[in-house]
Amino acid sequence: MKVAIMGAGLSGLACAITLEKHGISPAVFEKRERLGDRFVNGESLLSLLHKPITDPVAFFAEKHGIYLKPTASIQKMLVFSPSKKAEIEGSMGFVNYRGRHEHAFEMQLGQQVKSTIHYRSKATYEELLMEYTHVVVATGDGEYAMKMHNFQADLTVSLKGAMVKGRFDRYTPCAWLDYSYMAKGYGYLLPLSDTEANLVMAYPDDPENDQLDVDERWGAFCERVCRDLQQPLRITSHFHVTGYPIGICHRARIGNTFFVGNCFGAMMPFLGFGQFAALLTGIYAAHDICGKGAYEELTKPLRRSYENSLVLRRAMGRLENKDFDRIIPLLGSRWGESALQSKSFDVLPWLAFVLRPWMKKR
Ligand SMILES: Cc1cc2nc3c(=O)[nH]c(=O)nc-3n(C[C@H](O)[C@H](O)[C@H](O)COP(=O)(O)OP(=O)(O)OC[C@H]3O[C@@H](n4cnc5c(N)ncnc54)[C@H](O)[C@@H]3O)c2cc1C
Repeated sequence: MKVAIMGAGLSGLACAITLEKHGISPAVFEKRERLGDRFVNGESLLSLLHKPITDPVAFFAEKHGIYLKPTASIQKMLVFSPSKKAEIEGSMGFVNYRGRHEHAFEMQLGQQVKSTIHYRSKATYEELLMEYTHVVVATGDGEYAMKMHNFQADLTVSLKGAMVKGRFDRYTPCAWLDYSYMAKGYGYLLPLSDTEANLVMAYPDDPENDQLDVDERWGAFCERVCRDLQQPLRITSHFHVTGYPIGICHRARIGNTFFVGNCFGAMMPFLGFGQFAALLTGIYAAHDICGKGAYEELTKPLRRSYENSLVLRRAMGRLENKDFDRIIPLLGSRWGESALQSKSFDVLPWLAFVLRPWMKKR
């Protein structure tokens, strides 16, 4: 058996580590010069999105032998609407580095891979298919799946962000739900240490947003953040990702080709979380290759999560600022906190179930 993995990001590396545990040494092809060779940013693993798994870091270590070291756990979250604020307390997940940083998740995974990673690869999927018995497509986008008529593209998003210096509680990220900055968008601040954080404004590529001056909107958002955090923030580096595709493949496996990570549909339309599903799809593809399960079956729960997440994304797009002022204070109430953190009650699929008929009617 000869396995090629195209892409050394989260899903590709998780796949390589898992194959190696089962005695298969894949060839990994990465188009960049080294792992994580892109802008540094902060990302998070939110427990709320992966119930009944409440601790994703422990889950990957104990169940799959994949070791992730986040920068901090999330013990509190501040959520701001146009004129209200909620403080939610409890264990809610983790924050980690991505990109060109020594502690980025892709660097950590790279240290756990023993197989050769071929950097600056120009190998196409078609070439790999001719040479290898199995190809795992882990390129972080739906491009190949789309070319093969195997991808449903649902939306594209843009993310304007910066690394900022200031004073932060590293256990307390913040989020802003306020459409005054970008229509149907949101903002967040993820502290990566006591003095450094990642500030991001994420928004769908919507006709309403196309007409706006993004730099001017970003400036207004930064002013709001400084006001809410009662401190000036110093920007040290910028990034602007545009047209980031969110969608899902129709078939997770075609012949001996496996679509993993964002090529599968790891990136969830609601709030854009994709790390958890990216890692899991890489692991599941390896399990299938090793004869330990069927990839299509193993990924069914992730497909359901994607579909639920799409309902929530569409519902969120129909809310207005006045709705956020009503909803946000509920999140900080005792009811909100226990619903968000309950192990037995999975609030997001429940919400998607309730909202689905309403979304169809309008
Ligand atoms: C700004 C931003 C913020 C985000 N924040 C969060 C967050 O807070 N929480 C969360 O859960 N998710 C977040 N996500 C989503 C998450 O990062 C992705 O879902 C996840 O990284 C997808 O993993 P992947 O393996 O599919 O792709 P990646 O980890 O992106 O890896 C793809 C790899 O393939 C390589 N590659 C591409 N084309 C080729 C080719 N032709 N040949 C060889 N190699 C190739 C790339 O260079 C890259 O190394 C965020 C995404 C962005 C852009």
